[in-house]
Amino acid sequence: MSRFSYVNGRFVRHGIASVHIEDRGYQFADGVYEVIALAGGRFVDLDLHLTRLDRSLGELRIARPMSDRALTMVLSNLAKRNGIRDGSVYLQVTRGVAPRDFAFPVDAVPQVVATARRFKPVDPKALADGVKAITIPDLRWARCDIKSVALLPAAMGKQAAREAGAYEAWQYDRDGFVTEGTSSNAWIVTNEGELITRPPTNAILNGITRQVMIELAKDAGLRFVERAFTVDEAHAAREAFVTSSTSFVMPITQLDDATIGNGKPGSFSVRLRETYLARMAEIAGARA
Ligand code: PMP
Repeated sequence: MSRFSYVNGRFVRHGIASVHIEDRGYQFADGVYEVIALAGGRFVDLDLHLTRLDRSLGELRIARPMSDRALTMVLSNLAKRNGIRDGSVYLQVTRGVAPRDFAFPVDAVPQVVATARRFKPVDPKALADGVKAITIPDLRWARCDIKSVALLPAAMGKQAAREAGAYEAWQYDRDGFVTEGTSSNAWIVTNEGELITRPPTNAILNGITRQVMIELAKDAGLRFVERAFTVDEAHAAREAFVTSSTSFVMPITQLDDATIGNGKPGSFSVRLRETYLARMAEIAGARA
């Protein structure tokens, strides 16, 4: 974890970084967040993350705490102070501190906190063999497009995955269609060679990695179809993988009891991961 964290205008030692107990994030999950990767000391797709942050704040009518320029300065300063070049920053904005009352307080001042951490080394075995995922009912609310800090269903899902020896849990809606992972977007490749992921409605978070991957897949000439797919289709898929800012592309080779493809990461997954990593390397090497 970071040695220094950012709390409302100040960089403080992580061990004493705190907000008030009546912060609405703490009491109502009334806040939003972003996780942004750093490659070689540079942010990966910062503009897209800031745009999504702005949208999340707007949908919840939380005041924008500061300009994009100021936020960027805070985040780069935080990364530098912690000596982190390859890792991620976590940024959280809550509606503010106010006496506990459900309706929005008038004049609440948004609380901004940020932490930074190094990337954990990726387990080479997980990459070589792919990982396991399980499927679970989606217990979340109807606005999953907002990146809110209300992550209890995600925490429960991840715990279920851990207890099943799995890396991720894919959630499915009432009609049996996969929505997304607890902290990642879900993709499959059908036996017909179509790359599929669910459209960005209110049922999922429109991942930044997801958005970038769609462009990379199109550039690579892969047949991409944006549509919902069922758990049954996923069990029978040739390939499956997840995307997120911190896992990039992670191949899934077992979904519940079903072996995906031949049980090894498929060609689309491997290729997209390599393409994504090459793009990160380019960002890392880019001149300021
Ligand atoms: N879906 C959910 C529910 C998530 O929590 C995340 C990661 N925060 C993602 C998808 C992936 O988003 P991104 O690519 O922006 O990290």
